[in-house]
Amino acid sequence: MSDLEKLEEEALREIDSASDLRRLSELRVRYLGRKGVISSALKRIGGLPPEERREYGRKVNRLKELVEERIRERERELKRRELEEKLSAEWVDLTVPVWGSRGTLHPVTLTLERIVSIFRGMGFDVEEGPEVELESYNFDLLNIPPEHPARDMQDTFYVNRKGYLLRTHTSPVQIRTMLRRKPPLQMVAPGKVYRRDDDPTHSPMFHQVEGLVVNEDVNFRHMKFVIESFLREFFRTDLPVRFRTSYFPFTEPSAEVDIGCVICDMEGCRVCKESGWLEVMGCGMVHPTVLENCGIDPELYQGFAFGMGVERLAMLLYGIDNIKLFYENDLRFLRQF
Ligand SMILES: [Zn+2]
Repeated sequence: MSDLEKLEEEALREIDSASDLRRLSELRVRYLGRKGVISSALKRIGGLPPEERREYGRKVNRLKELVEERIRERERELKRRELEEKLSAEWVDLTVPVWGSRGTLHPVTLTLERIVSIFRGMGFDVEEGPEVELESYNFDLLNIPPEHPARDMQDTFYVNRKGYLLRTHTSPVQIRTMLRRKPPLQMVAPGKVYRRDDDPTHSPMFHQVEGLVVNEDVNFRHMKFVIESFLREFFRTDLPVRFRTSYFPFTEPSAEVDIGCVICDMEGCRVCKESGWLEVMGCGMVHPTVLENCGIDPELYQGFAFGMGVERLAMLLYGIDNIKLFYENDLRFLRQF
């Protein structure tokens, strides 16, 4: 019996002085393990006179419970202390000012925000649509019939579900907006578009901003004014702008918009192919069939639409000659913005 009291005293003293969890784990094995001190003490019960066995067994079990409980307590204490030490060692002052490592916005984001903010200033709303689009919104309702070359498998990414594709332009947002809202409409649709195109000036994914105005008595002069105002604001200079006759299935008449080359000041360079002019967007009066497709009476309303590539404008704005630089995540490039 006195051995048990000595054992208890020793066990508790050792547990209380265990300085870390590894030591505590050793003690647990030593006292409570299958071949541990307490199990051995229990085995000695057979060598005792029968009248002492019951009392001895009770005391050993009580000792076992006591040791278990004291180990659990000590474990909680050590864990708490470990956490406190870790927290104080890893303490970081979040109020210290950050020098030199602040992030910057991506040049495509900066350009997109610049475009959208100019149009917001002219009273345009911002509309958005899905990048996985219905084939009918991307083509049919925009007056692009099934045999039209724009639908060619070489240009369009189709998805594994009939009737769906990755939108090839932001124009389906016009369709979605006209189907949902009644004129007068004045909106821009910024977003990602996808085409099977890959060279120094084309990427399979790029950004467009599309614009649409629908109202009574809207004409080509209104469109010219809006586009010229936008371009001069965007490039922050009173640059020359010209409209060249072109063709798009969803506008009639249609035009390409050129600006005087901002790289060479119209002297002629590699970027403008020595012409002094740069093509920056397409535009036109909304085709009456497109208005009709969206439930708008072309006898009452007219509209104009325009679309531009954001990377293209960013390249001209910042003088970048390879579109791939936008997607390589090279910090030496990105830090310049
Ligand atoms: Zn030039």
